[in-house]
Amino acid sequence: MNPEQILAQVRKLINEHAGDDPDKWWYANRYVFARLALDERKTKTGVKARLFESASPCHGCGQPFAGRKDVHLHRLDETKAYSDGNCVLMHKDCHEECHRKGARRESAPRDTGDPILVKASKRYDTSFIYWWDITPALYDILDRYEAVAFSCKDTGLSCIVPTPELRKYLLPDRQTTRGVGNWGIRVRRGREDELAFEPGKSADEWLYLPAVWVDDARED
Ligand SMILES: [Zn+2]
Repeated sequence: MNPEQILAQVRKLINEHAGDDPDKWWYANRYVFARLALDERKTKTGVKARLFESASPCHGCGQPFAGRKDVHLHRLDETKAYSDGNCVLMHKDCHEECHRKGARRESAPRDTGDPILVKASKRYDTSFIYWWDITPALYDILDRYEAVAFSCKDTGLSCIVPTPELRKYLLPDRQTTRGVGNWGIRVRRGREDELAFEPGKSADEWLYLPAVWVDDARED
């Protein structure tokens, strides 16, 4: 069985167990989800403790750690597991700097098994408030994800759009002249409850998708 088949099987079992009872469905789904997430956290905790014991310095700046506070675990290869060989410790600031550099390279993200691709936007104070771009390289691998979360850095809120729904708006005539034809998605001032899709090169109308903003803090 591959991971997709395992997931389908688990979903089927939970649905059979719950029948028409939404409370039973919620509890079983949360029960399985939380325990699988805990399994992953336990492996992280073990790796981090062992790296501390080996007294390895910060992978970013090379300095030793003053204490255990604000020390992050960083995976060298983010497509691989949290294992002793694939992990290093970093100061919180060094870690964040390292991911900022990574983000600047802006290539298509690798497949990390996440069902949701998170696109984050800072706040703008102009005719629009948030702005996300979808590059053609990202478009090509969108089907790896079940949904895209358009997230707002200042509020932590995000709007989740299922990938098949999003694709309906990312049409060739709506590509802009930015990059090699990025699609632009914004939140326009006065229309905060909608995602606005830029007209692009040959289309002349903005398209709007109702947005539901949720606070869905994720780990890592
Ligand atoms: Zn450091």
